[in-house]
Amino acid sequence: MLRTGIVIDRRYEAHEPGAGHPERPERIAALRAALDGCERGGLLRVEPRAATTEELALVHDPGYLDQVAASAAHQRFAFDGDTWVSSASHHTARLAAGGVLALVDAVMAGEVDNGFACVRPPGHHAEADRAMGFCLFNNVAVAACHLQRRHGLDRVMIVDWDVHHGNGTQHTFDDDPAVLFLSLHQHPFFPGTGGVREVGRGRGEGATVNLPLPAGCGDAEYLRLFESVVDPVCRRFAPQFVLVSAGFDAHRDDPLAGMRMTEQGFGAICRLLLRATAEVAGHRCVAVLEGGYELRALTASVLRVVDELGGERLTEALPSPPADSRVVDPLIAAHRERWGLS
Ligand code: ZN
Repeated sequence: MLRTGIVIDRRYEAHEPGAGHPERPERIAALRAALDGCERGGLLRVEPRAATTEELALVHDPGYLDQVAASAAHQRFAFDGDTWVSSASHHTARLAAGGVLALVDAVMAGEVDNGFACVRPPGHHAEADRAMGFCLFNNVAVAACHLQRRHGLDRVMIVDWDVHHGNGTQHTFDDDPAVLFLSLHQHPFFPGTGGVREVGRGRGEGATVNLPLPAGCGDAEYLRLFESVVDPVCRRFAPQFVLVSAGFDAHRDDPLAGMRMTEQGFGAICRLLLRATAEVAGHRCVAVLEGGYELRALTASVLRVVDELGGERLTEALPSPPADSRVVDPLIAAHRERWGLS
């Protein structure tokens, strides 16, 4: 049994993008209700803190940090057509990035083995110099830089299974061979990046792995890609820490995208990733909430992943994916050749 740390806090409901916005405070309220009393189930609550300006500046430009801080003077302010904030959003976003840092620190200190950070606003679309796609600060990218600078790690892997491509995270580490960014996403789709030929540049060439998928993919395709690409790439890269951009908008009930994943499927891909993580990174894995906009699907999927993090299911058999698939086979072939996997 592993000790799983959970970050969840009512203060994540203070960021108000406005009526009718899918990235709404109720997402955290639903997760709080679902995880209520989670300590009794063996989970450990980790208290979030606000990320400092220095920590956010590991990823973001000072001018942009000033812009987000200045948005707190407005009741409502739009960074772009999708990304609206309220006066509380700046502080909530600092608490989101800092919540992930607190959890990462708890894992590095050995207080917990792994964890899940239920934070908002999400982060993976946020670029160094701008907000985008509901995201203000790139929570996962800040955590990866923190693991490099503060904890001296040489190899960090980020697995992004949100249905949208994590453009901000990819761009942060484009030329960094020490952070492997791997994303599965619907394509073509928002934000438009994440083609299979985007593999990183300069010294970072090869340390970006994109698995763009057509709409309509579900558990079978994801499981096959995790078995055939994610697992061997993780073992080959041998990260010391694995971060997951855990969005649940690839769920079949999600209103924003066109994938057909189920909560059981999220559990299965999580188990595969945790098995590889156990061997190379001593279980050090922190999942960070990104998207997921249908409340029942979101809570069921998060509970399933949290259950997997507990470690008792690690050795349980997984459903076998189909032996071949016209949709994912070309992707598998391209990446196995690039990584020299037979
Ligand atoms: Zn998303």
